Amino acid sequence: MSFPPSTPRPIGNTPVDQAMAGAREIAVEFSERDTPFGCEADVLAQFQRLNGEVDRIRYGMLPALARMEATGALLEEGGQRSVQAWITHQWGTSPAEANTLATLARALHKQQLPLVEEAFQTSVLSLGEACAIATSTEKATAEWAKVLETADEGFRAQRPSVEGFRARLEYGLIAYKHERPQTSVRQLRDATKWFVARLDPDKADRDYDEVFEKRGAQFSPTFESGFLLRMWGPGADNELIQAALKAYTQPYGPENAAMPKHERVYDAMMRIFETALGHRECAKAPQALATLNITVPLKRLLGDGAAEPAVTEDGVVIPDQMVSRLTPDSWLRRFVTDEEGRTLLDVGRKYRCAPDPVRQAAGFKKPYCEWHQGCDMPRSWSQYDHIVPFSHGGVTSSDNMQVLCATHNRLKHRLQTKVNRQIWEHHHAQNRQDTETSGDGEGEPAPPTAF
Ligand SMILES: [Zn+2]
Repeated sequence: MSFPPSTPRPIGNTPVDQAMAGAREIAVEFSERDTPFGCEADVLAQFQRLNGEVDRIRYGMLPALARMEATGALLEEGGQRSVQAWITHQWGTSPAEANTLATLARALHKQQLPLVEEAFQTSVLSLGEACAIATSTEKATAEWAKVLETADEGFRAQRPSVEGFRARLEYGLIAYKHERPQTSVRQLRDATKWFVARLDPDKADRDYDEVFEKRGAQFSPTFESGFLLRMWGPGADNELIQAALKAYTQPYGPENAAMPKHERVYDAMMRIFETALGHRECAKAPQALATLNITVPLKRLLGDGAAEPAVTEDGVVIPDQMVSRLTPDSWLRRFVTDEEGRTLLDVGRKYRCAPDPVRQAAGFKKPYCEWHQGCDMPRSWSQYDHIVPFSHGGVTSSDNMQVLCATHNRLKHRLQTKVNRQIWEHHHAQNRQDTETSGDGEGEPAPPTAF
């Protein structure tokens, strides 16, 4: 089959077109070149800078698009009522991407996010990150506006205004990014939830209630005389379910290595049900096997809604009502931190024995794999790695442990091996040189007394 001949894309003749065509030619020529061995890092760095330039060009167009949307020119001349519709059709992006670009465009046009503007201009933020912050900020601020609308005078007097809420959230997220430059878009979204939980202390509880209202589990029979189970509910409940499933999932070994995940989950659920049936009549149920580590600031536990929210080790915000429900049956361990709650000063002696305090301390406030170039793998799926390897005298203390996912754990060791090999190769080369100049035989370096 053949397609009808297409007309070539029109190329404009303005100074912008000319300059872009020239730059593009050089950039594409660079990208197509064979990468000389050992130059991959430089090529990747160049790619990153190129992408940054493309980002800047797209970013530069956004405020004007929002302005044309506001004046109606986008509809009259561009045929689309909204920025997202125009971008979807003219740039050929997905509607989701167009939406985040349009949200950023309007925020820039209305000058609502001055810190995002500054951070983008100084390359602290990428375009994707600026979009993510604009979208999360817009969504949370709109919800806050609704909360204020229905609240009474007293509440409104104590809480930030809509503008104040937006500014504080923006400030928090930009500060977060400054502090952790490798933070990804996904991590910025999680951080937004954390900041919103501080600005709007009841939000986590409200969200929980709202989703809980629509909770459900449904068994339906299938034609093959089997069944299908669907279950839905709040994310915080899912944290509990996952912890229980993890406790009842057989350790990964050679006998179940080939078993797909959905089968292992099914087996774990059946084990949970069997255990429940087996212990229905017991006066004392078996020891809790499942572990879900939740860090709750003491103030929050004591009811101060303005304190930092409770989070799981993966940084998922846990609503207060769930914390108070779980506390009576939980193991408690006291963590003493500095005033800002950032640095861990002391891990309390066990209250009731909590599992593995060294690892808990090592993972304090680190919800993701700590790979220095950034990584989204949650802590509960990652491994604890000795920074100075055990074999090199590294000790098992929280100072010498870091959270790394499986990929980055392996990569770290591969790179380490490469460095070690280079050191040895250099060492051997040095030896050969020494032995050659000394005119001695092979292998061992010649002792200085040989001269
Ligand atoms: Zn990783």
